Amino acid sequence: MANSKFEYVKQFEQTDNLLPNTWIVVRIDGRGFTKFSAKYAFEKPNDKRALELMNAAARAVMAELPDITIAYGVSDEYSFVFHKSCSLFERRASKLISTVVSTFTAYYIHLWPVHFPDTPLSPPLPSFDGRAVCYPTVQNLRDYMSWRQVDCHINNLYNTTFWALIQLGGLDATEAEKTLKGTYAADKNEILFSRFGINYNNEPEMYKKGSVVFRDYELVEPGTHNTTAEVDNLAEPVQQSKTQTENDKKRRAKARIVVQHLDIIKDDFWDRRPWLLS
Ligand code: ATP
Ligand code: ATP
Ligand code: MG
Ligand code: MG
Ligand code: MG
Ligand code: MG
Ligand code: MG
Repeated sequence: MANSKFEYVKQFEQTDNLLPNTWIVVRIDGRGFTKFSAKYAFEKPNDKRALELMNAAARAVMAELPDITIAYGVSDEYSFVFHKSCSLFERRASKLISTVVSTFTAYYIHLWPVHFPDTPLSPPLPSFDGRAVCYPTVQNLRDYMSWRQVDCHINNLYNTTFWALIQLGGLDATEAEKTLKGTYAADKNEILFSRFGINYNNEPEMYKKGSVVFRDYELVEPGTHNTTAEVDNLAEPVQQSKTQTENDKKRRAKARIVVQHLDIIKDDFWDRRPWLLS
């Protein structure tokens, strides 16, 4: 571009490159979805169509951004994990966040009629906010993922009991809230079972565990590989050759993207899929 006397304004831009060699998590969250879910009469506590739409949009984001290794979604939020070696946009936070948010939102709106065929969207249209956080170790990243899945479990148990008290027990919201005040998980399970004959364990996996989106390679039998922790602890960084990295990238881009509802807190999920964190 030609020089001009206006060009100095470019210098006002702040650098926002994220720390190298760290796992980048971009978490997006639906803006005002309490209201949005009421407007479109989402079923409470879990509207299956809405969750499947979130999952479909997340899959599309992963297909367009091969640097994302795994994503986890619950309610109106999704966390996308960029591999620690990612160099997309020189790791500029604003570029990464805005690309994820706009790609996700575009697909959410594009795919809306597939999941809500009888309910056309109308303004105000759905929108999402986003943030990026860097996690330096695999343990930090796994703790992050565990944190979101525990949150899913706690909220879902609460919401399932809360809405059972209202929908099946005839309580109003205030009475239901009062009933649940100070209760533990065991109490909620007991309320569900003794009052409504609901065994929480039999609730759909998508509601209890949220949704994990990842590229599906061949599973590894437990105990037949180096753990990611061992790889992480090597004093010398393992340098892959350029072609190896390129090939991996191509293979990653081609692999089938799946949505599953699995426990990501225990080691098993990660042990069987070592490519996710290596
Ligand atoms: P903010 O803009 O601050 O995020 P919010 O209203 O979106 O505000 P959240 O904490 O993100 O607040 O909560 C999401 C809301 O959307 C909750 O009320 C939740 O019940 C509702 N919601 C999201 N997904 C579903 C779904 N699949 N089925 C039913 N309700 C849903
Ligand atoms: P990046 O992802 O890095 O932004 P880009 O290809 O979008 O890559 P830009 O510098 O943003 O690069 O340039 C936008 C491109 O889109 C230019 O080539 C510009 O000519 C083209 N373009 C944008 N709007 C129009 C338009 N209304 N008519 C014709 N061409 C357009
Ligand atoms: Mg441009
Ligand atoms: Mg929020
Ligand atoms: Mg929200
Ligand atoms: Mg939320
Ligand atoms: Mg452009």
